[in-house]
Amino acid sequence: METGLTPTRLYMVLQKKFGVLNWWPMDKNYHMMNNSDPRFEIIVGAVLTQNTAWSNVEKALDNLKLDKALDVDSIMDMTLEKLEELVRPSGFFKQKAKRLKNLVLYLKSKYNGDLDCFFNRDFYTLREELLSLSGIGPETADSILLYAGGKPVFVVDAYTKRVCERLPVVGVNDVSSYDTVQRVFQYDLSKNFSDEKLTMVYKELHALIVELAKKYCKKKPLCSVCPLNNKCLFKKNLF
Ligand code: SF4
Repeated sequence: METGLTPTRLYMVLQKKFGVLNWWPMDKNYHMMNNSDPRFEIIVGAVLTQNTAWSNVEKALDNLKLDKALDVDSIMDMTLEKLEELVRPSGFFKQKAKRLKNLVLYLKSKYNGDLDCFFNRDFYTLREELLSLSGIGPETADSILLYAGGKPVFVVDAYTKRVCERLPVVGVNDVSSYDTVQRVFQYDLSKNFSDEKLTMVYKELHALIVELAKKYCKKKPLCSVCPLNNKCLFKKNLF
């Protein structure tokens, strides 16, 4: 029996099972009606999703939308107390409100809130800048860069690490290192997909891994019905 999968093979198998997921989820109608930039919703979502379930993030985003406040200027002008109230459902709301305030202050003071100016720069400079902001770690920075900025970078989250550890994913020897996991995925995928396709593959594969982890590879895994069970070492060791 084959055990373990390369990132490319993992992408193929998961895509066959789940199809195209078209991440990041966002409300395009809201932005059309309010003449706001949908990429900002991704930026806010990437901050709010830290240490919480996406369903809680959606509640906070709905609050911001009801207040017509899902744009740089509205969050800039809002009091911290009001912002805390709106993002409260996402948990750690005081910390997250402060992070959002810092982020919009940075976007406003350096780029006048213009996301084209912000994203239209060298990838490494942009990433360094994001990582220098309070509360923005590699996962949040890379989510913003990939899904809002369309930059070719693979996002590693706790689900990715769990799947890598259990399958395992070929080449990932240290799941505790964000950079190592990212490097293995990017090295393998960039060998097998053209530059034009790579960003789309990074977006989809991250979404597919989240789907796998939520449906099957939970903390207590549902191996008997998992689409990867004939390739997974963890499943093999259960029996
Ligand atoms: S659910 Fe089980 S079989 Fe599927 S990837 Fe996770 S550990 Fe492997």
